[in-house]
Amino acid sequence: MDQCPGVSTCPFYMDRMAAMPTMAGMMKRHFCLDDYSHCARLMVKEKLGKERVPADLYPNQSVRAKQLLGAP
Ligand code: SF4
Repeated sequence: MDQCPGVSTCPFYMDRMAAMPTMAGMMKRHFCLDDYSHCARLMVKEKLGKERVPADLYPNQSVRAKQLLGAP
């Protein structure tokens, strides 16, 4: 698949989040460089804008992203 269009600015991809999980490299390969359509950060960014993406939201936190988007 394709690389996420946000890799050059994304705090997660740029290693600028306060606490990077030990599996960050695996998440980058899975989400950022392959299947970004399921990335929690991207989901929130596209619906609410980049200002509303929590600083500590990781790409694999889709449940949290859906809650932020108002899912029951
Ligand atoms: S964490 Fe999500 S938004 Fe950021 S570069 Fe990776 S896929 Fe894109």
